Amino acid sequence: MSLPSKSRKVSSRTSHEEREGLLHSSDRYDPFEKETTIESDDEESWSRSKIVKTATSLILLLIFGTFARALLRSPRRPHPDLSFNGDYIRSNGTHEFKRTVLIVSIDGLRADYLDRGLTPHLLEISKRGLRAKSMVPIFPTLTFPNHWALMTGLHAESHGIIANNFWDPQSELEFHYNQISSAWIPDFWLGEPMWETASKAGIITANLMWPGPPKTKSGSSPTYFIPWKDKVPLSVKLDQILAWIDLPFDERPQLLMAYEPSLDQAGHLTGPMSALVNQTLAQVDLFAAALHDSLADRNLTDIVDIVFVSDHGMTDTSHPTLIYVDDDDMLGTRGLETVVHEDGWPAMGLRFNSKQNETYYLEKLLTSKHPHADGFDVYTKETMPDRWHFSHHDRIAPVWIVPKIGYALTTRKEGDVGMSKGNHGYDNHEPSMHAMFVAHGPFSAVVKDLHRSSFAAWLPWKNRGWHSTSDDTYVMDSFPNVEIYGLVAKLLGTEEHASANNGTKGFWDKYF
Ligand SMILES: [Zn+2]
Repeated sequence: MSLPSKSRKVSSRTSHEEREGLLHSSDRYDPFEKETTIESDDEESWSRSKIVKTATSLILLLIFGTFARALLRSPRRPHPDLSFNGDYIRSNGTHEFKRTVLIVSIDGLRADYLDRGLTPHLLEISKRGLRAKSMVPIFPTLTFPNHWALMTGLHAESHGIIANNFWDPQSELEFHYNQISSAWIPDFWLGEPMWETASKAGIITANLMWPGPPKTKSGSSPTYFIPWKDKVPLSVKLDQILAWIDLPFDERPQLLMAYEPSLDQAGHLTGPMSALVNQTLAQVDLFAAALHDSLADRNLTDIVDIVFVSDHGMTDTSHPTLIYVDDDDMLGTRGLETVVHEDGWPAMGLRFNSKQNETYYLEKLLTSKHPHADGFDVYTKETMPDRWHFSHHDRIAPVWIVPKIGYALTTRKEGDVGMSKGNHGYDNHEPSMHAMFVAHGPFSAVVKDLHRSSFAAWLPWKNRGWHSTSDDTYVMDSFPNVEIYGLVAKLLGTEEHASANNGTKGFWDKYF
């Protein structure tokens, strides 16, 4: 799977900005300067063919030397972390450990929150490890679809969680993310979460409130499972994670998943630019620091990979332009009455009471003379942008109204009541919807080693996926969050058990 063209545009633009800001080096290869030097110094005594011959020999020598060095080096000094997975055991000095992966989701941590100067510890961790400019969520950019995409490596049309609320025509049941009686029905959750893959490989897993079900369709559960509960202090979550890490060898989980919602809640309540968000961001940063320090105290930084992710970003919706779907230039009140199921938010998936009404009102929406008609798009499953991978599932309603950033859909009756000051769910190419990726552990050590080696100079992707900043942080280009499933499988050495997914085959190979 590759990023669609518009994504590349976004990436390259932010890439340019980041290079301006983060890369301090001004040493750039200037072909003209070099050529001028050779010619002006030696034009009398050096014939053209001699120059070509000498240059060719030098280049060949350089190529041969570099490859020979890289080839000679690698068998003699393989990176110790490359073989550290599967049944390989490493000691922290007092206890034996298998390779361990801890993935922590900080709900609603927008990628550029890390540039606010409020997350010194997360940045410090990324300096020792790596970060991505951003991680691109799946569409819709909502919590449940994205947490399940992170778990399964699948887009919404494949993993079935197409919104936080939707109606399933097959079972004729409604999915409500905040009702256990509905959200824990295994049949809603398609695909194979990483804890199921791990358990197929005999790995013990632990799930601390990660949004999703306790049991999949096939009957697989995490070994340890703590269900969602609101307002659980971060210190309690930290203690739980450490309690699992401190378990005896035979009971200790190797894959741990943890979830924290406070930053998303703050973002909704007071908006992404608010003092509350900044304050919560600082708390989350302290949690990251405490987690990192606790692992360092146990001498586990060469044993445990910590992967910090988020599910989506957040945009300010304190003063949205309201679009009333029951206005005459939209569906009208009669049109709205023919809608039998309304899915999603802030986008709206519509199912009508008859095919005739569907056709009629679709046409009405498509030809709307609404004064803010440029503030929303109307799609069918057939016209939905391919890059959203949001068409091929019968849970996806036949007609969707998708607002653009700055706009909100509502009705005359509802108005702006209950509308939050921050929201997400918009186009996943909007930078404000982008999530974060920061990782540290044996994984990032391999990456750094690779990029320091002379061999790296000959890699065809050099400087396309990576650049090193002045402070030695490795910043990956933005990448889709469906790649995370493959990363964890690779770290745990469970790739042979991995389920088919929308990640790119071999995406992480070049980093190991
Ligand atoms: Zn969320």
